[in-house]
Amino acid sequence: MDNVSKVVIIGSGPAGYTAGVYCARAGLEPVLYMGTKYGGQLMLTSDVENYPGFKDAIQGPDLMEQMRAQAERVGTTLIQDDVTEVDLRTYPFVIKTPSEERRALSVIVASGANPRRLGLPSEMRLMGRGVSNCAVCDGFFFRGKKLAVVGGGDTAMEEATYLSKLASSVTVIHRRDALRASNILQKEAFADPKIRFLFDSAVTEVLGEKKVEGVRITNVKTGDPTDIQLDGLFVAIGYDPNTEIFRGQLDLDKNGYIIVKNETETNIPGVFAAGDVRDFRYRQAVTAAADGCKAALDADRFLKEPHQLNLLQA
Ligand code: NAP
Repeated sequence: MDNVSKVVIIGSGPAGYTAGVYCARAGLEPVLYMGTKYGGQLMLTSDVENYPGFKDAIQGPDLMEQMRAQAERVGTTLIQDDVTEVDLRTYPFVIKTPSEERRALSVIVASGANPRRLGLPSEMRLMGRGVSNCAVCDGFFFRGKKLAVVGGGDTAMEEATYLSKLASSVTVIHRRDALRASNILQKEAFADPKIRFLFDSAVTEVLGEKKVEGVRITNVKTGDPTDIQLDGLFVAIGYDPNTEIFRGQLDLDKNGYIIVKNETETNIPGVFAAGDVRDFRYRQAVTAAADGCKAALDADRFLKEPHQLNLLQA
């Protein structure tokens, strides 16, 4: 059969590139669609100290460039384009970008998730310079500092309690007068003497030129603005998994994450999911990379099943 790839990988974060490395080294000649905004969340991260193999901190974009180059060197074909449509109900599967259509015997979805943003220009300007979306990744850089967490959900409570072990104080800033988080996580945060809460408050500006020096908050009931001095701001207002093109084909949970069984298997045999697109629990570069490895091994196993071998040889 012509014009059919053994494996197509969608996404160029740690999960996608690692899947590329493993598939290429297994002789599966993977084709990886990077997206036009390639590299995933680490492209907006500065120092990375928790990815093994680098004694000194490595910059997020440098780490992603290393992964890209490694995947390419071992034989992954990289295409810098967005996948805009898939048909996983026909077989071989169909993958479309604005410029091409490709068929695939197996697909690894590693399209990631985007942290929601407040939508402030100052938030983006100071991203990686005191603004973060990940306490586990960046909390260590703020030991003994004054921090704030925005949000009232489970993620915000987990980030606040994680940061309180490292910071001198943590202020949770929430836009309503009640938290959305589960009781158990609320209770833990309320009992923490280092965490205080500012309710009915919206962050309307992140202050500082080169690094975060504070935030301006506006009381949503009175409209009164207040500036508070801070060293770091953790935005924890949820994530949007990049799964829109799979909706109606792959089973998604209520938050849009791909549902898997046995680690990477979706509801469609031959389609595997890896990294933040299916994992809302760990969300680390190293766990995403591990997932990419698992998806590649699972795809390899799938392709060795007798009916796949027949197709490959046809
Ligand atoms: P979430 O439940 O959607 O909560 C997002 C929070 O951010 C809400 O409090 C929301 O305010 C606030 N928010 C949203 N947009 C905002 C904006 N533009 N400005 C200011 N605030 C904004 O997201 P999540 O906390 O990431 O949780 C997602 C899912 O994962 C949930 O189902 C959660 O239970 C689950 N999760 C579970 C655990 C756990 O069990 N340990 C840990 C993490 C996440 P409002 O409340 O006003 O809408």
